[in-house]
Amino acid sequence: MEPLSRPAVIVADMLVDFVTGALANPPSIATIEPLARLLHGARERGWPVCYVNDAHLPGDVEAGLWGPHALAGTPGAQVIEELAPHPGDVEFAKRWYSGFHETGLDMYLRQHDVDTVILTGQHAHICVQHTAGAAFIAGYRVVLAEDAISAFTPEANAGGIAYMEQMYGAATGTVDEILQTPVIA
Ligand code: ZN
Repeated sequence: MEPLSRPAVIVADMLVDFVTGALANPPSIATIEPLARLLHGARERGWPVCYVNDAHLPGDVEAGLWGPHALAGTPGAQVIEELAPHPGDVEFAKRWYSGFHETGLDMYLRQHDVDTVILTGQHAHICVQHTAGAAFIAGYRVVLAEDAISAFTPEANAGGIAYMEQMYGAATGTVDEILQTPVIA
């Protein structure tokens, strides 16, 4: 992987409803440990850690497609305990797939001089992909932490990652590879 310059880690929808709740995704369980390691490494290095969390309001369009999930203020909309934000981490509430859509994430990243987003969470071909697309358009380099990303099926996961590599020039690596990648000023 090319050296990193000013990265931030983005965690998409590692919420109770998305792991074990209303939209339970068993493959996401295997991503918790690597993702926790990535977040630990990011905090040690001073990289911003940003959560982009579904926080739906009644009547949101998405509920018609997926059924009710991650309603704002409910336990299902909380980040799972294993990955709970630490002081200094930031949570952004979203009502659509992209973590950039009307959330303030872009301004926050710019305030912190970030030029690379390391994407994690779920689902590879839905919220991660939409967040990657918005990051690409906004001028960020996109890195995918592949062992910290999941989808309902291996095919959907691989398809989402392949799409982001092809369409957004995303670089893919494991959490260990990313943490071992040199960082340039
Ligand atoms: Zn949603």
